[in-house]
Amino acid sequence: MSDLRERAQALDTADALAPLRELFTLDDTVYLDGNSLGALPRHVPARVQEVLTREWGELRIRSWSESGWWTAPERIGDRIAPVVGAAAGQIVVGDSTSVNVFKALVAATRLAPEGRDEILVDAHTFPTDGYIASSAARMTGHRIVPVAPADVPDALGPRTAAVLLNHVDYRSGRLHDLPGLTAAVRAAGAVAVWDLCHSAGALPVGLDEHGVDLAVGCTYKYLNGGPGSPAYLYVAERHQAAFDSPLPGWTSHADPFAMAPGYSPAEGAVRGRVGTPDILSMLALEASLDVWDGVGIDAVRAKSLALTDFFLECVEAYAPEGRVTPVTPAAHKERGSQVALRCEDAGPVMAELIARGVVGDLRRPDVLRFGFTPLYVGFADAERAARVLAEVLGAPAA
Ligand SMILES: *Cc1c(COP(=O)(O)O)cnc(C)c1O
Repeated sequence: MSDLRERAQALDTADALAPLRELFTLDDTVYLDGNSLGALPRHVPARVQEVLTREWGELRIRSWSESGWWTAPERIGDRIAPVVGAAAGQIVVGDSTSVNVFKALVAATRLAPEGRDEILVDAHTFPTDGYIASSAARMTGHRIVPVAPADVPDALGPRTAAVLLNHVDYRSGRLHDLPGLTAAVRAAGAVAVWDLCHSAGALPVGLDEHGVDLAVGCTYKYLNGGPGSPAYLYVAERHQAAFDSPLPGWTSHADPFAMAPGYSPAEGAVRGRVGTPDILSMLALEASLDVWDGVGIDAVRAKSLALTDFFLECVEAYAPEGRVTPVTPAAHKERGSQVALRCEDAGPVMAELIARGVVGDLRRPDVLRFGFTPLYVGFADAERAARVLAEVLGAPAA
């Protein structure tokens, strides 16, 4: 066991990303819930204070132009773009992921060829995507077809208008084949819509490279934007001229201050905007993105895989036989940045883990989830989490 502790130390020493941890506000708990709420970067409170006292308190209405508030949604979209492999001008920030799923999916049906009446939806999707998709389908006269992502190629046909998939499954941590599935969807003449909530900031997405049509994602998980920070919408440049939002609010108008009675959409990603942006949380997000300066997503992915490999190895070594079973795939190409373990008494086990300073979360009824954010989680954290887990599960003290 001390062998694994020594290896953890050596891995942390060799880790080029390890100094980034100092950019975050952390304590001596092991925080493995960054896939639900990313940790706070240290410099963000001072920036938020400045927005409140100077930009709002002193400049007031002038800040819409002088402090860059009006253009924040597209400016911050351009900051997220490199992290998800998009060129500038295709991402706009605002609203929740749920609302962006609605915009993207209805717009996808409007981009799809006439006469197609099916929307394929990830059968294991995060619930909100499924609820919204059902409503969007009812409104647009489409039929929902639930499909496991791997079965999408077989389910595609001349009736498929759009396909809504999660890049990484929120429960199991399974990574789906975005390049292959996007290619299949497009070859069938349908529109591919991806939800990146559990992949953006944790692994390369390559939106432009893989020809994704539309995508959405949140910013409070691996992007550390803060509780309820606004989500984003990606509209590939080739679709922007035809992108027809079902929520054409005044801030997506070509000339919002003309206050014209008729709607005429702005060019580009701005077309995905709706109403007045939520400036406070948006500017907290903008500041938090500073931690990405000079950080390559390939290095983040390499560390993520090393961390989850090492955690699985430690669990295997420490945990009593048969108490937990990994649900997360062993193959790297099928793994996101979390480890999910099936455990019969997952509820009380997670409560006890948290009481002992290891914070993961529970997906009822029987899944323990451990998220590994490579920017601030280290190998010693992974080893300690596995050791405490084994103690909680009833192994002799390590
Ligand atoms: C976290 C998450 C959401 C959250 O949606 P909100 O509207 O931001 O609450 C949606 N979809 C997926 C796949 C998620 O993981």
